[in-house]
Amino acid sequence: MELTKKEFIAVFKKRLNQKYAIDVSDACNSELYGTLCSLVKSSYSAVWRQTWKDFVKEHDKQTYYFSIEYLPGKLLKSNLLNMGWYDLVNSAFEDLGLDLNAIAAVEPDMALGNGGLGRLASDFMDSLASEGYPVNGNGIRYKYGLFKQRFVNGYQVELPDEWLNSDGGNAWEIRRASKSVLVRIGGHVRLVQEKNYLKPVYEDATLIRAVPYDVGMVGYHNNHVNTLRLWSAEIPESEESKYPTIEDRRQVEDITAVLYPDDSNESGRLLRLKQEYFFVSAGIQSIIRHYKKYGSPIDQISQEVAIHINDTHPAMCVAEFMRILLDEEHLSWDTAWNQTVRVMSYTNHTIMSEALETWTVPMLNEIQPRILQIIAEIDHRFVAALAGKVDGGLIERTRIISAGKVHMAHLAIIGSHSTNGVAKLHTDLLKSDVLHDFYTLYPDRFNNKTNGIAVRRWLQIANPRLAKVIDQSIGSDWRQDASQLLKLIDYSTDNSLLDQLGAVKLANKRDLTYLIKQETGITVSPNAIFDVQIKRLHAYKRQLLNLLRIIKLYLDLKQNPDLEIIPRVFIFGAKAAPSYHYAKSIIKCINETANLINHDATIQDKLKVIFLENYGVSLAEKIIPAADVSEQISTASKEASGTSNMKLMLNGALTVATLDGANVEIKQYVGDDNIFIFGLNKQEVYQYYRDHNYHSLDYYHNNPIIHRVVDTLVDGTIPNISAEGHEIYDSLTYLNDEFFVLRDFEDYLRVQDKVDETYRDQHKWNKMSLINIAKASYFSADETVKRYAETIWHVKQLSEKGDMNVKYPL
Ligand SMILES: *Cc1c(COP(=O)(O)O)cnc(C)c1O
Repeated sequence: MELTKKEFIAVFKKRLNQKYAIDVSDACNSELYGTLCSLVKSSYSAVWRQTWKDFVKEHDKQTYYFSIEYLPGKLLKSNLLNMGWYDLVNSAFEDLGLDLNAIAAVEPDMALGNGGLGRLASDFMDSLASEGYPVNGNGIRYKYGLFKQRFVNGYQVELPDEWLNSDGGNAWEIRRASKSVLVRIGGHVRLVQEKNYLKPVYEDATLIRAVPYDVGMVGYHNNHVNTLRLWSAEIPESEESKYPTIEDRRQVEDITAVLYPDDSNESGRLLRLKQEYFFVSAGIQSIIRHYKKYGSPIDQISQEVAIHINDTHPAMCVAEFMRILLDEEHLSWDTAWNQTVRVMSYTNHTIMSEALETWTVPMLNEIQPRILQIIAEIDHRFVAALAGKVDGGLIERTRIISAGKVHMAHLAIIGSHSTNGVAKLHTDLLKSDVLHDFYTLYPDRFNNKTNGIAVRRWLQIANPRLAKVIDQSIGSDWRQDASQLLKLIDYSTDNSLLDQLGAVKLANKRDLTYLIKQETGITVSPNAIFDVQIKRLHAYKRQLLNLLRIIKLYLDLKQNPDLEIIPRVFIFGAKAAPSYHYAKSIIKCINETANLINHDATIQDKLKVIFLENYGVSLAEKIIPAADVSEQISTASKEASGTSNMKLMLNGALTVATLDGANVEIKQYVGDDNIFIFGLNKQEVYQYYRDHNYHSLDYYHNNPIIHRVVDTLVDGTIPNISAEGHEIYDSLTYLNDEFFVLRDFEDYLRVQDKVDETYRDQHKWNKMSLINIAKASYFSADETVKRYAETIWHVKQLSEKGDMNVKYPL
């Protein structure tokens, strides 16, 4: 029974009335938003309950995906799309004189993550539900999301993101007080011998109540809704009297107050470790409690439960799972360990050594002494099992606890049956270098799962104009099955389609020019090349290389104002971790350069530099459809995969890239002629490391262009950067340019000239763009999650997309 527009309008008006006692003509956007959310949620709730009942009835194996970050962005449009309501609601709102876009904008971005890691987890949640897999997320309900970024005098300023207190609030969550569990933190523990096991006796531990908030993850046209469970810390009722003051209470509630705004360096703060144990323990307890409720034997739990450790932050899953099997279920060590390793799997996301998490033994002891004991026992047995069989150095390098430090990646690898990297190059690097020792011990555990993106969000929702043009050529099957986008290749000589692609891009660029004007006051032309670099600000991602090129173009134009170049608008979006001084200096330099160039009349609008504030999912959805050029210019070997590279190509941008992360696979799919590759490759970077023969000063001294450009950082050409300019200047010269910016500079200029030349032939450009859109389908997260489900977790697909008997009744 199809829902009709008339019915929808009637029910909508009624709900608005009931909820806010108001008519459509008087309602504000947040009331309209609240009403629509309420209808959507009450409609999918029946399906959500049914999905869960089916899991239970069939004893289907389930996966629990543990991630300390999620970055879902806004969910309203995504839910409308997946329920099959989008077009209907859009058209009903038009009839009512309402603007769905404006109403959807009320929702705060759920920004419970920093960048790529959290966004990947959310793309996976969407795809797992859409592919009908029984996979549920586990994470933290941070009271404050990632900070709000503002620029003041060119400097980044961080403001708190109070998303829960915004007009939209969190319309999607359901507090499930009845599913709360108690998490024990701190204190002391001793073991007392019971008949057949050692019983831990805890003293002075603090009990924290973990309350789950569940968010429905609605699948695409398949009557399947999974759960994202986010945990919040509270004081247990029984302990209330221990916390007489607001200050005391805050100590507990602070456990889930803030997301660490740093996705690479460990803050080293005890609170972070507490957060990790808190959500791990709450999640594992609730999984085991649920499993036991239906009477299955605990020593066979691996047949019905898989647990995924997304990056090392949840690595304590291994020890917490062991703790419960040993201390509460009284399994023998060997049985418990056997089950644990079968249940657990782990994804490595980085090779940056500063991001490989370690904690000191005293810190772990302070957070949870029993967990430290168990980790020490795992380590002890690991060492004992290898002693005499392999080289002692290998054991020392791979054991979990060494020199007073607990290596979380080691715990995750040793305690699981699968370790995967996130792009071919990255996995190869893990095997050959970063985790080579583990690879020699456990070659069968290593596998690659190249990252992916949700084509629904990044194309259907973010770029409706492009989606429509695609429908008109190859039909709409791609909306169910992204691989159908490959059919576009047959249209690569269809001039009418290529012209339409150009027209779509122009229209999207025009939209972005309005946003830029509104946000920055600067007018840019939609006829310029929109050259985009959007990602966290990090030295290895080399926004600095981009900046130096901009400065070079500026100097050229100052010298020769009549120089013929295709106008370019350089667009940046990036947050820097608040404690990352160098990254913040780069932001300041980009902003001051922008200020200089944007207001210099001699440049005649040939260059504009736009740094949009507060980069996040919602801003990405506006920038990406308007991008002509995608900058993926990290130092080779440093970017594990990247996913903005995939989102941008899906929207028809052409990629300027080093052979790093998934760029390597993008190049393989689109072919050398449809991508702009430059710079050192991984072998060359590693050769420099081995031979210690990179001398950035040689490039500075011997290349007059580099000399001139780098000098602008310190010679007053760019105003107001005396401290920051010197800091960056020094990093490039005396500190030997850790990320090979100067080494790659000339080649980067060369490839950018090629971009210019190619853009002059719009026909050719659009054709390349078409091929990129088609081949981006290889990066559909729907396919990525299938590979996880089939080869790591061994869970069954329970429903298929395209079930048009979708029943989301009003
Ligand atoms: C995709 C995405 C990222 C990841 O970008 P990379 O270029 O892969 O680092 C970060 N932040 C947001 C908001 C994203 O949507």
